[in-house]
Amino acid sequence: MNSTKLVSLGLTALKSNVTHLDRPYKLTFSITYACQSRCVMCNIWQIKPSGELDIREIGEFAQRNSCFKWIEITGGEPFLRSDIVDIVRIFRDSSKDLYVLTMPTNSLCNQDTVVGKIEAILKLGIPKVSITISLDGYRELHDRIRGIPGNFDRAMGLAKRLRNLQARYQNLFFVFGYTMGKFNEGQLMNTVRGVQKELPWVTANNFHVNMAQTSEIYYKNSEMNLKPDASGFSTELESFIKARKFEIGVIPVIENAFLKKLDYYIKTGRTPMKGRSLDASLFMDSYGNVFPSIMWGRKIGNIRDVDYDLSRIWHNAGAEEARKLIKEGKEPHAWTACEAYQTLVGNIGSLLV
Ligand code: SF4
Repeated sequence: MNSTKLVSLGLTALKSNVTHLDRPYKLTFSITYACQSRCVMCNIWQIKPSGELDIREIGEFAQRNSCFKWIEITGGEPFLRSDIVDIVRIFRDSSKDLYVLTMPTNSLCNQDTVVGKIEAILKLGIPKVSITISLDGYRELHDRIRGIPGNFDRAMGLAKRLRNLQARYQNLFFVFGYTMGKFNEGQLMNTVRGVQKELPWVTANNFHVNMAQTSEIYYKNSEMNLKPDASGFSTELESFIKARKFEIGVIPVIENAFLKKLDYYIKTGRTPMKGRSLDASLFMDSYGNVFPSIMWGRKIGNIRDVDYDLSRIWHNAGAEEARKLIKEGKEPHAWTACEAYQTLVGNIGSLLV
């Protein structure tokens, strides 16, 4: 059953190399903009959201659009939604080939509740459930970046609990998500070593690195200058890549390719290859607005206006115009994991060099 879903995802990703897909296989869905962090690089926490999609609407959307094989649920802090397990269950029931679910957390919600919800999600039987614990520095640095005293220790506590949960659930994966920017320049390996002092089983492979990005529709931080010095970043990234142990598997191959292209992106400011937004993937916010990606505020529609049927906006004039711009390389330049993975597998040759 799991291998059938994996084959289905793999075949669709391969197909995206040679033709346009008639529907996306990856959904990035911000289920809420509520967040109790106070991050220096993001303004989401300043939003006081109201009128977000409720569980009935999410159910309508999931039932009418059963094409997703990979869902990235994000926020805000997704675990602030008390119905997060129901949301996942709805997608599990509707998208029969759903293979991967990823979710980030800032570790600030009640941890008994979060671990209970993660366990309930694991029991739903999605083959891969990946939790990203945000961690941008060692102890005081992380707490300062996130604006919450004690946040580092809470992240360590959650990691320990997830490690215990892994002993019982083979479908659970988790990493530390390190956002790299001006605010933590030169601190990546120091953070890896700091975490190792707390959790000796951790290696560099347990870290996922992303560049801090700006986005008017998502982080609401367009005015910020977050990019670190390019040469310092390259050196830091090189040490990190060297510290990672060789691993066999599709995900390590994609992750390594992602990191190498990240270096290219920071040096040139250009997306390393043609993106797969509005072909393989889309971003939907918690109000049902649909965009090509998190990084591109070009709205193509709202699912509330089309009876929750994505196909009614997937080929509208706005979507076709955005695709034309993507084809011409005129979309905003970015390189984030939420877009890069499907871009890499949709440009399969890039994984070989
Ligand atoms: S980066 Fe994440 S945790 Fe921080 S304010 Fe933004 S949504 Fe919240």
